[in-house]
Amino acid sequence: MNRKNLEELRRWATENNLERYRADQIYQWVYKKWEDNPWNMTNLSKELRKWLSENFKFHTLEKIEKVEAPDSVKYLFKTEDGHLVETVLIREKDHWTLCVSTQIGCNIGCKFCATAKDGLIRNLTTAEILDQLLWVQKDIKDLPKPWNKVRNIVFMGMGEPLANFTNLKKAVEIFIDQRGIDISKRRLTISSSGILYQLRKMAQDPVLRSVNLAISLNAPNQEIREEIMPIARSNPFDELWELLVNYPLPEGRKITLEYVLIKDINDSEECAYQLAKLVKPHRKRFKVNLIPFNPSPILPYERPEEERIFKFQKILLNHSIIATIRWSKGQKVFGACGQLRAKREIPLIG
Ligand code: SF4
Repeated sequence: MNRKNLEELRRWATENNLERYRADQIYQWVYKKWEDNPWNMTNLSKELRKWLSENFKFHTLEKIEKVEAPDSVKYLFKTEDGHLVETVLIREKDHWTLCVSTQIGCNIGCKFCATAKDGLIRNLTTAEILDQLLWVQKDIKDLPKPWNKVRNIVFMGMGEPLANFTNLKKAVEIFIDQRGIDISKRRLTISSSGILYQLRKMAQDPVLRSVNLAISLNAPNQEIREEIMPIARSNPFDELWELLVNYPLPEGRKITLEYVLIKDINDSEECAYQLAKLVKPHRKRFKVNLIPFNPSPILPYERPEEERIFKFQKILLNHSIIATIRWSKGQKVFGACGQLRAKREIPLIG
């Protein structure tokens, strides 16, 4: 069920000799009321509920673990072929943000990322991407407002979202459908490592370019970027920058430049000034999100001292650039893109 958009569900209803409005009712139950037990779908006939309970699969993932920290909750799911998928629910000041995974593993190879260690195992299906939200919603739906609904979604979990273009696009279509889940386009962000041909494809896609874009930049120049992100060799910094400066942004939006601050690698004042020089002429189009590196026993890097982090931010602010620091919410369970796995010691394949 949870890979079908409303039109597909209506077609499915017709093929199964059901009235079209039955599809609308089921869509509402699953994507608005977060119901996964057909016996609770009270406006459906008894026969249909029985049929659904025997023939309809409401989840493709199995929820196997939930770890709560004061400001975040990490969910661990298992796919039908035995792989693990992580999703993090982050408590912001007045809403939840859900950090969703799009692949099992990742082949981008960022040196500061634990997910990169395993390479890519496979793309998640649309159903598996959607199911991360459906499980979380089921968990929180009875909390008082506004905590009963995820407000923001970031594709910043395991994997490079744009490398799973087709499944990502369909999941986004269902996430933003006002007849169902209805996440605002302004509150859904795709975070990419910056692969040029995929970004060009996103820029031409009416659905994907209508949501927010974040780029994992992590350096102010080619040399440093290439050191920590090998994909910079085939996706040169200058070409990426040119693309971002000309990216077709919806009215009033900004591209977020994610910058994982790593001690003695990209956290110097010189780096901050270089970044400021780059961004300042386009400061209406960009904002910078500084992410102090989350140390991990399997990665060779360290987090800079607080003073250095604030200094870096101050240099950007002094150039009138919007620059925030993400003191990773629930540092224990959440890091930057791909750092989700940093703290887990169980193997990826269950
Ligand atoms: S940081 Fe993101 S894009 Fe880079 S290897 Fe990790 S999961 Fe992949």
